[in-house]
Amino acid sequence: MEERTVAVVLAAGAGKRMRSDVQKQYLLLRDKPVIYYALKTFQDSFIDEIVLVVGHGETEYCRREIAEKYHFSKITQIVEGGKERYHSVANGLKAVKGEGYVFIHDGARPFLTEEILLRAYDAVKEYHACVVGMPVKDTIKIADEKGFARMTPNRELVWQVQTPQVFSIALAKEAYETLLIKEEELKIQGISITDDAMVVETLLNHPVKLVEGSYENMKITTPEDLNIARSFLKE
Ligand code: C5P
Repeated sequence: MEERTVAVVLAAGAGKRMRSDVQKQYLLLRDKPVIYYALKTFQDSFIDEIVLVVGHGETEYCRREIAEKYHFSKITQIVEGGKERYHSVANGLKAVKGEGYVFIHDGARPFLTEEILLRAYDAVKEYHACVVGMPVKDTIKIADEKGFARMTPNRELVWQVQTPQVFSIALAKEAYETLLIKEEELKIQGISITDDAMVVETLLNHPVKLVEGSYENMKITTPEDLNIARSFLKE
């Protein structure tokens, strides 16, 4: 029997780097908001349920203008996010009950495909934790504090990570509960949490498998990204 699969889709970021009054997940790509595209992929896929995480005070708007308007029947809950991305993930995970797997995805990545979801699903069934990403194309340098190149990691071993990041529900809940307890301690150590795999690797010491995503599975962060996304759609 296949286990239950839940997507947690994040749309609670303020999008300050977008230099726009409209948050990036609601900007239009073709004639639909950016967030529509990932939700549509989840809706049409094998995923059973979607938890949508939105900004403070946006629950009703998203219910009406996203969930109902586009008939996303798999959205079972809309919850509010928090200050940092990891607070939003933690709030989303609190709404996820029972056993199975959780697919945590940035709503600002519109070019998710069912193939990516299936590759991640296969990996998570085997390893309990995986993240989608791609090997880097450029050489990467690790800099010192003064801006000089200190180290050049082997390019074949450097990946740029994307989402979804997929975990067994119990593992993700344990990792995020631990994170909220240790939040202050990590801040003092200067560790900032920028993705979900980090929480699982760092706090639970659990291995995370890297799974191939695609170079199109980009995150829309700046106005330039929106232009690139529009050109992908034209293709
Ligand atoms: O800010 P960043 O580009 O890392 O955001 C990645 C995703 O996380 C976006 O979809 C954004 O809406 C979401 N996010 C969130 N809550 C935050 C910050 C970001 O849901 N506090």
